[in-house]
Amino acid sequence: MVSKLRQDIAAKSESDGGTLGGLRMTKQRKLVYDVLMDERDHPTATEVYIRSKQRMSSISLATVYNCLETLSAAGLVKQVNVGRDASRYCPNLAEHAHFICAKCEQVFDIGLKSDKKVESVWALPIGARIDHLEVAMKGVCANCNGAGEELGGKG
Ligand SMILES: [Zn+2]
Ligand SMILES: [Zn+2]
Repeated sequence: MVSKLRQDIAAKSESDGGTLGGLRMTKQRKLVYDVLMDERDHPTATEVYIRSKQRMSSISLATVYNCLETLSAAGLVKQVNVGRDASRYCPNLAEHAHFICAKCEQVFDIGLKSDKKVESVWALPIGARIDHLEVAMKGVCANCNGAGEELGGKG
């Protein structure tokens, strides 16, 4: 099922009710979701696994992948693809794009300016409707731009 841009889901986080956005939350799904919500730094699946394992030592990487897949399919988290790197995961359901720093590889959430709509920024095909927004930009963040220090050892 294609998820529409549903900002409203973020508002009703009835996490202890056992379901979230219509999805039944198993212990593992809840844990993976909590990990994403706690530190919104767009971790990779491996990073989510490491953090999850600190809270539930029995969880496996396969389970984490599974949970991420399910949460993405349910529209509760966004999968962010950054070039050839591993996918990152984002629990921010508000309409936003991503800015990726090529130096420190931080991923920033960026929103449209308050008076803009996606339709007014991009020249969409006539009559087209957006159901899913996935925009990523690469550059250098302010921190890296100003610091001017080299990050060696990049393969
Ligand atoms: Zn940076
Ligand atoms: Zn994001």
